[in-house]
Amino acid sequence: MVEKARLSHRLTHGELVTLLAGGGADGALFAAADRVRREQVGEEVHLRGLIEFSNLCRQDCLYCGLRRSNPGVRRFQLAIGEILEMAREAAESGYRTVVLQSGESAAYPTGAMVELLHGLKALGLTVALSVGEKTRREYEAYRRAGADRYLLRIETTDARLYERMSPGMSWANRVRCLMDLRRLGYEVGTGCLVGLPGQSLASLADDLLFFQALDADMVGIGPFIPNPETPLGAAAPGSLALSMKMMALARLLLPDINIPATTAMEVLHPQGRLLALMRGANVAMPNATSGPARSLYALYPGKVCAQETPRHCRSCFGEKIQSLGRPIGTGNGARIRS
Ligand code: SF4
Repeated sequence: MVEKARLSHRLTHGELVTLLAGGGADGALFAAADRVRREQVGEEVHLRGLIEFSNLCRQDCLYCGLRRSNPGVRRFQLAIGEILEMAREAAESGYRTVVLQSGESAAYPTGAMVELLHGLKALGLTVALSVGEKTRREYEAYRRAGADRYLLRIETTDARLYERMSPGMSWANRVRCLMDLRRLGYEVGTGCLVGLPGQSLASLADDLLFFQALDADMVGIGPFIPNPETPLGAAAPGSLALSMKMMALARLLLPDINIPATTAMEVLHPQGRLLALMRGANVAMPNATSGPARSLYALYPGKVCAQETPRHCRSCFGEKIQSLGRPIGTGNGARIRS
């Protein structure tokens, strides 16, 4: 099955479930994902500077520390000038791409986002947004103002599980957002959480087939990490091994896409991101947020490098990548279709 996937980039739902269940093929799976990564997207590791600019959120996802019902969060909202200053520093540190991430809120109306995007583009940066569900009109305005990419994880393709985990949100609307982004010409990133309470292997296999059907340009996969300040605080964490298998399978099914080594993997293993880079990943998103905002954006506990400076983070992680014998990407790391 692994060899079939390596050559054809196709697996059935049943085959995906079998591979996710293990059965002694994990080593072969990881080796195949690493080989496909090398053949299709090369050795470069692309770094994106992550700027977490506000932890305000109107949503109430059960697994997330930023949920509106969490009274323990000190909320912040950076001014446009502060965000642009962080982006300028990121550009000076060598980043060609920044990812602007926030909770879902109306704190930055369309006009403010357009002003922000114009400022980011004036710095010569490729810009990815990760600011949640918006109307098509808003996505259009961001795109016209220069946004290149948009990250919106589906989280799970099990609609009932999704709506149980995110009360008041609609799975159909999530899919509508992804379709709008696709039609508007963004590079579209999506992904899922692995290990949500009630999630099955069959559901994870559905997630992988969904990424393929969407023709996602980037897929980010992270293990569920219980946050004690949320209703799921006592739940078991997701499995690192299963998350890695999901990531490796995503590489086999979508060979030329960008796949990040997610920081959540490093919460479960001190070398989690490096391991991910050896099992199909080709992107990392070091934190380029500075000041108090850096530690106040806490989706889950144990966030890595929360006290470091952006410059330190980039050089430290850059050295780790080079220790793998892999170069840091010099371009903007757009998906190049094979
Ligand atoms: S997962 Fe996103 S939308 Fe849900 S509460 Fe957290 S920040 Fe808000």
